[in-house]
Amino acid sequence: MITGKTKLLGVIGHPIEHSLSPVMHNAAIATLGLDYVYLPLPVKPEDLERAIAGFGAIALVGFNVTIPHKQAIIPLLSEISPQAKAVGAVNTVWRTENGWSGTNTDVEGFLAPLINLTPQPPLLPEERGSINLTPQPPLLPDERGCKDWSQTVAVILGCGGAARAVVAGCAELGVREIKVVGRSPQRLNDFLDSWLNLHLPVRLSVHNWQELPNLISQADLLVNTTPVGMYPRVDESPLSADEMAKLPKGAIAYDLIYTPNPTLFLKLAKQQGADAIDGLEMLVQQGAAALQIWLQQPVPIDVMRQSLRQHLGLSD
Ligand code: NAP
Repeated sequence: MITGKTKLLGVIGHPIEHSLSPVMHNAAIATLGLDYVYLPLPVKPEDLERAIAGFGAIALVGFNVTIPHKQAIIPLLSEISPQAKAVGAVNTVWRTENGWSGTNTDVEGFLAPLINLTPQPPLLPEERGSINLTPQPPLLPDERGCKDWSQTVAVILGCGGAARAVVAGCAELGVREIKVVGRSPQRLNDFLDSWLNLHLPVRLSVHNWQELPNLISQADLLVNTTPVGMYPRVDESPLSADEMAKLPKGAIAYDLIYTPNPTLFLKLAKQQGADAIDGLEMLVQQGAAALQIWLQQPVPIDVMRQSLRQHLGLSD
C-alpha cells in the first residue's frame, strides 16, 4: 500500500509507456516487503533540466534513465562513475549529500551471463563498486567464466548506445580484440574516435557491413546490438543463415533483444552449435544492480527475472 511514508524510485524517458522496469522493480520491492514504489516518469527532452531540479526538491531516492536522456543527463549530475564515463551514458542515478550521482549498470548487466558461464558467488553491494568512483580492478581469470577471454575476438553488430556498454564490457572481460560492424562509415568513425581518450585496454576496430562475412569466421563472441529481429519484425535477422554458417563451433552468440525470445539470430546461431544468450538476463541484471544501489541490500534477482518472463508471456 502506498502511504505518506512510501519512498519513491522511478525511470525517466520519452516515451516511457513501454518500459518493463516498473514490473521487475515493483515485484522485487513487494518480495522484500519494503515501503518503496517504482514509477514510470515521462520526461520530454526539453523538460529534463526542470525535472531533475524538481526531483531534488522532492524525496525521490533514485531513478533509472532511458532513451533519450542517457547522455543528456550527465551535465546535470554532480559525479559519475568510471563505467558511466567509459560508456558515455548514465542509466542509474542516486541521491548523495552533494547532489545526484550516476553510473551505468548496462555493462554489469551485459557481463552477468558471460561471467556466469561458471557459477560465481553473488557480489556483495560493497564489492560491486558502482557507488564510489574507485576504478575497478580488471577481472581475474577465474572471474571471467570458463573461457580464457584473453585470446578471444568479439564481433559487435551495430555502433549505437548499447554497443558502447558492450565494448566497455568486452574490455572488462579482457578479450583480445573487438571488431565493431556498422552500416554508416561516419557513425563508425565517430564511434571509434569517442574511445580515443579513454585508453581502452584492447584493440578496437570498426568495419563496414560488407566485411561481415569475413569477420564472422573470426568471432568467439558475436553480439547483436542492432534492433533487427525485435518484435514485431521477428522474421528478420542481422545475419542471413549463410552468413551465420561461418560462425565457428563453440562461439557465443549474444542478442541484446529480449522479445521475441529467442530471436531468429539466436535460432540460427544455435543451429551452428553456438551458445546462445538472450537480452532478458542483461535487462534483469542491470535492473538488479540499480536496485541494489538504491536499497543498499541484496535484491531478489529470481523474482525480477520471473516477473519479466511472466509479463512477456515466456514459458519457464
Ligand atoms: P541505437 O542507439 O539506436 O543503436 C542501434 C544500432 O543498430 C545503430 O548502430 C544502428 O545503425 C544499428 N541498426 C539499426 N537498424 C539497423 C539495420 N536494419 N541494419 C543494420 N544496423 C542497424 O539503439 P540501442 O539503444 O543501442 O539499442 C539497440 C538494441 O539493443 C535494441 O534492440 C534494444 O532493445 C537493445 N537493448 C537491450 C538491452 C537489454 O538490457 N537487454 C539494453 C539496451 C539495449 P545506424 O546508426 O546506421 O542507424
